[in-house]
Order: sequence, then structure tokens, then C-alpha cells
Amino acid sequence: MAAVELRDLHKTFGAYTALERLNLEIEDGEFLVLLGPSGCGKSTTMRLIAGLEEPSSGDILIGGKRVNDTPPRDRDLAMVFQNYALYPHMTVAENIGYPLKVARVPRTARADRVRAAAAKVEMAHLLDRRPGELSGGQRQRVALARAIVRTPRLFLMDEPLSNLDAKLRTVMRAELRHLQKELATTTIYVTHDQVEAMTLADRIVILNDARIQQIGTPKEVYERPANTFVAGFIGGPPMTLIPGTVTADRFTHETGALDLPGQPDGPAIIGARPEDIRVTAPGAGDLDGTVFSSELLGDATLLTVRVGPALVAVKVGPDDGRDMDAPVGLSLDRAKLHVFDGQTGQRRD
Ligand code: ATP
Repeated sequence: MAAVELRDLHKTFGAYTALERLNLEIEDGEFLVLLGPSGCGKSTTMRLIAGLEEPSSGDILIGGKRVNDTPPRDRDLAMVFQNYALYPHMTVAENIGYPLKVARVPRTARADRVRAAAAKVEMAHLLDRRPGELSGGQRQRVALARAIVRTPRLFLMDEPLSNLDAKLRTVMRAELRHLQKELATTTIYVTHDQVEAMTLADRIVILNDARIQQIGTPKEVYERPANTFVAGFIGGPPMTLIPGTVTADRFTHETGALDLPGQPDGPAIIGARPEDIRVTAPGAGDLDGTVFSSELLGDATLLTVRVGPALVAVKVGPDDGRDMDAPVGLSLDRAKLHVFDGQTGQRRD
């Protein structure tokens, strides 16, 4: 176990900046998720920590010690990446035990530890199989067992569940979270899936365009997104963002206006999550629109309402579906309304 610190970590590839002076402290035992769209710099950050890539400038500290010049194999970390890269000619047991073999752990001690690691991921009954004889989820577990067999100081996981089907991903997510808490090993986990980030993380770091947009617990980033990027990225379906102008405590947008006391005059963007919008009779709410689609999700119905040129997601009860093209009003819960600066997109309040 170890704390990790990234100080002014900067990475360029030629003229391209993949990571812009990143500063981040990861606590000992923390499950930290790096979340962001494709190309934002997540994998680059991981490769830098692993030592597979050299920083252009800045420092990486693991357990309080600068490791910039430490080769990858001496950094005492285990990686689980998207392509699990199991050895096809080795059995499950041999795959899991491989890091121990490399570390010259004696054969008998190795067998015990392989069994223990396999048991943790519920693979102890398949030790003699080869990767070709396993399902995707089982292969994924073998990769995990191979990572935990050594009890390293740090786990680096880069989209380890992305090759699994939706159901298996949900199961593995819960297993991973449980396992990480049990082992209490510092874990840095990359995903572009915000649900995965919300469910796994102690804290989430949201990256975009090579920069940190926000760091916080899942609850913090959901309830108080720092800017319109985070607001639109976290939560599915996403928050509706409406640009407009505040004049004398009134917010005017393309298709209407609503009271917005306490905000300075000028351009602003208001945001409302699907669960913070109520359907009213046409003309009785803050916005007017027509139903674009109505989807039963099981425990709720997702209404998509066309308001001017925009589509607004609204979560209603399972029995509150509406017909397509039905006119509706929408009322925004004032206590839950998010307000962002119209120019910078930064949260106001
Ligand atoms: P994804 O989710 O698609 O894997 P990511 O957030 O992990 O994306 P990175 O792999 O970190 O993104 O890449 C960040 C940026 O740096 C991308 O625009 C990528 O094209 C660029 N990049 C990464 N590696 C190299 C390289 N070796 N040479 C040039 N550019 C690179």
C-alpha cells in the first residue's frame, strides 16, 4: 500500500499536449477513478505512473519517494489493462503464478498463493484450464488474480471491464469494489463510463482536454458539478443545460423565461437533472414542449421532451408515460437548479 502523488506532471507528444501540469494526491488505500472522454489523457497518466512512458516534466511519487527514474518492474505495482494479455499456452494457475515465478518465489509457496488469489476471484475450481477455455469474465478474473497474487503497493487498472457484456460488468464491478476494500490496496482506475466511476470510486478525477476539471467524491461531483463539462458528463441521461441571460432576477432563454433571484445580470447557463424536473400542464411550468419519446425503464419512465431545438430528459414515475407529440409543461425544482457562468461555464454560488 502506498500514497501516490503527481506533481505538475506534464506530457507532450511532439507539439501535442496529452497532459497539462497535473497535480493530484491519492491517499493510501484509496480507490481513485480517472474519468473522461476518449483522448483526454487518462491512459497517458496511467502509463506515466507505471513507468511505461516518461514525463516531459513533473514528478511522480509513490509512498513518498520520487520514482521518475525507477524502472517499471521496480515500482511495485500491478496493472490490469483492457486487453488482459493472458499467456494462451499457460494454465490459469500458471498465468496467475507468473509474477511470483518472475520474483523467484519457491514453487510450493507459489502454489498456495495462487490458490488464495484464485479463490478471491472465485476461480479456484478452474486452475487447470487454459485461457482459450474460459469466458471473457473468467479471463478477466484471472487477470485480476494475477494482479493481486503479489500484494503490490498499487493497482493500476485501465478499463479492465470494457470487454465484458453489461451484466457481467455489473457483477465484476461489485466484486472489484469488494476486493479492493478487502485488500485495502491503493487503486487507480481508468474508465470513460461514468456509471462505473460513480459506483467504484472513493473519489473521481474528471479529465478533459488534458486537464483536471474536478476532483471529488461521486456525490460531490454529481450534486455540485464544477462546470458545464462535468455537469453534462456525470449522470445519465445527462443534465439539461439551458443557455440564456439574467436581467433583474429573471432568466430569459430561447423559448421562455423564469425567475432566478440572486444571480448577477448577464449570460448564464442553468442546469437541471432529469429527476429534478416535474411534468405540468402545458403553460403551467417553466418550459413548454412536446413529448419526443417515452421509455419505461422498469422503476421509472424516461421522458424526452422537445423544447425548442433542445431535447430535455425528465424522469417520471413508471405509470406516468406520455404519448408521443403530447404537449407538456416542465417545472424545474428551484432548490436543485445548477447555475453556471455563461462565458466560462464555471459553477456559480
Ligand atoms: P481513451 O479513452 O481513448 O483510451 P485516453 O483518455 O486514455 O483515451 P490517452 O491515451 O491518454 O487518452 O491519450 C491522450 C492524447 O495523447 C490523445 O489525443 C492521444 O492521441 C495522444 N497520444 C497518446 N499516446 C501518444 C503517442 N505515443 N504519440 C502521440 N500521441 C499520443
